This record gives sequence, structure tokens and C-alpha cells, in this order.
Amino acid sequence: MPRVYNFSAGPSMLPEPVLRRAAQEMLNYKGSGQSVMEMSHRSPVYQDILETTEALLREVMQIPDSYHVLFLQGGASSQFAMVPMNLMTQNKKADYILTGQWAEKAQKEAARYGEAKIIASSREKQYACIPDLAAGSFSPDADYCHICLNNTIYGTRFSRLPSTGDVPLVADISSCILSAPLDVSSFGLLYAGAQKNLAPAGLTVVILRKDLVGQPMEQTPTMFQYHIHIKNHSMYNTPPCYCIYIAMLVLKWLKEDMGGLASIERINRKKASLLYDFLDQSSLFHGTACKQDRSFTNIPFVTGSQVLDAEFLESEEHTGLINLKGHRSVGGMRASLYNAMPEQGVAALVEHMDQFERKHR
Ligand SMILES: *Cc1c(COP(=O)(O)O)cnc(C)c1O
Repeated sequence: MPRVYNFSAGPSMLPEPVLRRAAQEMLNYKGSGQSVMEMSHRSPVYQDILETTEALLREVMQIPDSYHVLFLQGGASSQFAMVPMNLMTQNKKADYILTGQWAEKAQKEAARYGEAKIIASSREKQYACIPDLAAGSFSPDADYCHICLNNTIYGTRFSRLPSTGDVPLVADISSCILSAPLDVSSFGLLYAGAQKNLAPAGLTVVILRKDLVGQPMEQTPTMFQYHIHIKNHSMYNTPPCYCIYIAMLVLKWLKEDMGGLASIERINRKKASLLYDFLDQSSLFHGTACKQDRSFTNIPFVTGSQVLDAEFLESEEHTGLINLKGHRSVGGMRASLYNAMPEQGVAALVEHMDQFERKHR
């Protein structure tokens, strides 16, 4: 079978040049006589990989020096607890905006450690949009305000950031990291599971403003304390070595082959437009997210008939377009168009949808 166009929300496609390079270097990384998977994480050759990865991430995302960058494990889901355990320590309360299941999970977890106040929610609207935020919604004494910047399941994103004043904004950026430029200085903390747009599953990136690192709650496990990982330069224990190496290759590809974030944003917007333009004129398919809040990395859509949805998804097998099934909680279809999805993949999807529509008119 030739390589497929994989529209999965995560783990998802990696750039082909990255996979080829990893294959070339598999048995003998830069004359070390070993695979990156086998070498000591404390060896100079691996140290160089870790430092290069951090430097590249800082350069590509333009992360100011006033921020720490951490390479951790446990997924974005561990950050749901790690954030409150380390940051909900002054007034023991935080604001949460519910825009989907990931934001809900983050809020539920935080509520175990303090007051996790829901200040806005679009749950009543099946999370099809980002809720309105009145100026007085925010708690001026919150230790932070948490948002999920791009909602992977429902296909919405914050196109404007909430104005939280002096309250640090914390964002889950798992499904939009590196998809477009982001002003890191608007945030107190950013976190992302790597398997959507950066590397294989197993690596979690945390970007944290230095002045926010304080004493965590008393019972916080050592592995959940930011300051421990900061002090040890993400080497308190064995880091996810191979994932970090792939992240390094992905960042090199993004910088050198794709021209950085401004350039990848143009490409991503073009890919998303291709699909949205088709959906907006189609008499069979339609997108489920509110127009003004549409994500350009995750695009859910339906036909309006469960029978036709199922038939469309069955056609995957012979088209080479895979993993288009929507999240189990919403049904229908979803196309995730991360950085590694080429424009031809989206064109092939639109072509296939067009043919399907003609057949069922
Ligand atoms: C995938 C995803 C998660 C969960 O990530 P894990 O690394 O599997 O814990 C959390 N938040 C968002 C926005 C996601 O897309």
C-alpha cells in the first residue's frame, strides 16, 4: 500500500522528510555507532540533541528568555493536574472557560486542588462555538485563567484571547502548537502533548513564565513539580529521548523547508479554506462549528444522515484517505489538517467528497 493521507486528530502524520531522515540515522546516529533510542541520555551526543531541540523551539516560536521550556512526559492530561498543583497556590482559585471535553477535563482535575470556577461555557451549544466573555466575567484574584486554545474535538479556536488583566493566562495548545505564530508573552503557561503537531506520543512540552515558578502544594509528587524539572534541565529522570529527537527533526523541517510559522500559517489557512469553501457550498456536507470560531487544524463535518456518514467513512478503505471518523462523542467526520498534511491530501479529500455528493444527489 502506498503512504496514505492520514486525517487523524492524533497521533497524526509526521513530515515524510523527517521520517526518511530518522530512518537513515536509525542504526548509527552521526557516527556514534548507536541509535538515538539506545544512547545514554547523559551522553554529550544526546545532550546536543536536547539543547538543539530547545534552541529550535525557542527560535521557531520566538519564546522570550523570561520563559522556561520543559520536555516532560505524561501527556497534556498530566498538565491538567500539574498546572493547579504548581500555580493554584496563592489564592487557591482559578478561572476556567469550558469550550469542550479537554477544557472540561482540565477543570474537573483542577477542582480537586482548589476552587476551579467555570466563568463561561458553550456546553449548552454542544461546544460548537467559543462562549462570549463579558468584561466582568473574570475573577481578579484568580491565580490563573485556563483556556483550551484550539478545541480538537469540536473544531473551534479562540481567535481573540480573553483579556485577563494581571491574571496569568494558561493555555492547552496541544492541537495548534506550531500551526501559526503565537505571542508567547500573552501567556503565563502553555502546554501541549506532542503527538498532534510536533513529535510522536510520549513528549509533553511546557512553556512557563519564570516568575510563576513557586513552591507547589505540599503533597505534590516530585515528578509533578515544575521547579524540579527546571533545575534539572528536563533531565530529572530519563526524558522521552527518541520523541525529543523527532521533535528536533520536525522543528528543523519547519524552519528550513517550510519557512517557519508565518509561512506554515499561510499554508494551513489555504488547506483549511479548501475544505471550508467546499463545505460552505455543498448541498450534502456541512461543517458543525460556528463560522467565526472555526479551527484551521481540526474540521468536523456531517452529512446530516448517519447512514450517509457511515457510507462515506466506509469508502476510506479504497481511497487512501484514512481516520476521517469524528470523535466518538460527536460522530460524523473530522479532518485534522496539521502541518504535515500536504495540500494534495486536502485536495484529494475534497475531490472524494465531491464525487460522493454527486453520487448521492
Ligand atoms: C489530544 C489533546 C489532549 C490530550 O493529550 P494527551 O497527551 O493524550 O494527554 C488534551 N488537550 C487537547 C486540546 C488535545 O487535543
